[in-house]
Amino acid sequence: MIRKILLLPGDGIGPEISLQASRLLAACQEAGLDIAVEEALVGGAAYDAHLDPLPPETLQKAKDADAILLGAVGGPKWDTLEDLSKRPEKGLLGLRKHLGLFGNLRPAILYPQLAEASSLKPEIVSGLDIMIVRELTGGIYFGQPRGIEMRDGERVGFNTYVYSESEIERIGRVAFKMARKRGKKLCSVDKANVLEVTILWREVMNRLASEYPDVELSHMYVDNAAMQLVRAPKQFDVIVTGNMFGDILSDAAAMLTGSIGMLPSASLNESGQGMYEPCHGSAPDIAGKNVANPLAMMLSVAMMLRYSLSEPALAERIEAAVGQVLDGGLRTADIASEGMRTVSTDAMGDAVLAAF
Ligand code: ATP
Ligand code: MG
Repeated sequence: MIRKILLLPGDGIGPEISLQASRLLAACQEAGLDIAVEEALVGGAAYDAHLDPLPPETLQKAKDADAILLGAVGGPKWDTLEDLSKRPEKGLLGLRKHLGLFGNLRPAILYPQLAEASSLKPEIVSGLDIMIVRELTGGIYFGQPRGIEMRDGERVGFNTYVYSESEIERIGRVAFKMARKRGKKLCSVDKANVLEVTILWREVMNRLASEYPDVELSHMYVDNAAMQLVRAPKQFDVIVTGNMFGDILSDAAAMLTGSIGMLPSASLNESGQGMYEPCHGSAPDIAGKNVANPLAMMLSVAMMLRYSLSEPALAERIEAAVGQVLDGGLRTADIASEGMRTVSTDAMGDAVLAAF
């Protein structure tokens, strides 16, 4: 059965790294993978073409696809748009919401070859392998009411942090199942000493724990979790948390691994359809220069093969190819230690393809 892949290059370095991903997809096709790859506009690129960061035809193609690969969206060119609903980031949030992509998987893995590039001492991070499971379609980023309005003669801004029991339960199940497949340890991160919504969060996680007796559940307040991630990150196996805490903690975890340019992510819905993208943004500061690291994007292809297409063998081939290229000493600027020669986006892509 032929499976449909939608590639959304987006903005900034998105198109440059997407090119490397599409070359990798072509190599998978040559290796026998039965896929049809289409492209569409999203984010700033779609705004420029259609005054809409998520045009209806893009949304339709996304709904029809078995999996979506996204580069990155946004950039300074669109930051001045006063209508926030036209900003590139809205295209991405809309896509997540429409497709119900509530389960965000963000691995933080340290490649042994890159221990030098980590912000922390090698003994603290060597062998690091954490999976952060972040709720992606609820919480304070989506809660109502929200806005900026006049109260008592001055402007106030407000958002609402809201989670329903069923929303907590479904992300909890993703996390428990993930922990079951890995080190059987799950840490739920909340702020239950201050926020009622996370008291409910903690209650639901505790209830689920009885269904997964083989998984050891612990709880941590988010401030402590931030500290522990930097102090002793290897104590974690799987972390589950809400949208905003997950956003922040996963960026911190990313830096432990040397570069945000190495980390893929997956966002899944209830039927297993997924959107795969690098953890980093559109990196406008280096866009168009052929220096961006394409590995997070290429590893996102591997995640897609594993989680949406049930092709673990091809996923492993990509991951092994990346390891081999790093063993060979190839580095883009973001992962190079002092004195190392650096290569371009294209050259890094070439090397992974050659090793695949
Ligand atoms: P977003 O809001 O979309 O998360 P951001 O502004 O937080 O974006 P990024 O776009 O991820 O941040 O960029 C943060 C820094 O990391 C920038 O200096 C950027 O150049 C660098 N960076 C991001 N991705 C890559 C990459 N693939 N290769 C090299 N450097 C990168
Ligand atoms: Mg960011």
